[in-house]
Amino acid sequence: MLEIEDLRVSYGSVEAVRGVSARASEGRVTLVLGANGAGKSTTLRAVAGLVPVRSGEVRLGGAPIVGRAPHRIVRDGLVLVPEGRRVFAPLTVEENLVLGGYTAPRAQAQQTMEHVYAMFPVLRERRRGAAGLLSGGEQQMLAFGRALMSSPRVMLLDEPSMGLAPAMVESVLGAVREMADSGIALLVVEQNAELGLEIADDVVVLARGEAVFHGSAAEARSHASVVRAFLGDA
Ligand code: ATP
Repeated sequence: MLEIEDLRVSYGSVEAVRGVSARASEGRVTLVLGANGAGKSTTLRAVAGLVPVRSGEVRLGGAPIVGRAPHRIVRDGLVLVPEGRRVFAPLTVEENLVLGGYTAPRAQAQQTMEHVYAMFPVLRERRRGAAGLLSGGEQQMLAFGRALMSSPRVMLLDEPSMGLAPAMVESVLGAVREMADSGIALLVVEQNAELGLEIADDVVVLARGEAVFHGSAAEARSHASVVRAFLGDA
């Protein structure tokens, strides 16, 4: 569904991503691990068209997307949920969802919203309330819901559990698993390697802008010491 091949991204003279390959497949969670500064966020932002790619290929459903405008990439079925949630706090929950569905025809948006509410019942309960009054975990669900409104085939999630209470981390990661089980391909940057591995199918570890480990979640668990060594060393 999503193939990233030998991706390179620079900020001026800083080479943030130096030849990363990874993929995300339908119904699967690919976990991206790595220490601070390893290039995880930059990889996601480059795939979504938000920072320029220096070289390499990104294919969505087989078609190359490097150089496409970010809104076009969303329309083509790939959406990024950035770090820090960033819901529109003064707007209601439902207004936030409507904004996420702006690329879709109205009737379809209504149907997708029903699907989002079925997946996250708390959003239906709070739909007339201000998004800013939701708890951190609920805001993350709303950020997922808003992204789902574009009916994506591929979702990129940047640190969805960041700053959440432990109980909330579990329910947010449970929601990630549920989105994958609905058929979406997910590429997920997660700082909590242990919990992330519980919901992941595949794992990529980045260190200093390079992919240093590719494998299944089971392989990553059995090579935990290897993975940990890379996590501690950006
Ligand atoms: P973190 O978990 O800290 O967000 P990360 O793995 O997501 O880390 P990136 O944010 O992708 O890493 O950063 C990779 C490298 O690129 C780092 O050396 C960082 O300092 C640098 N970098 C990131 N954003 C910019 C920017 N806007 N301008 C210049 N350098 C940047």
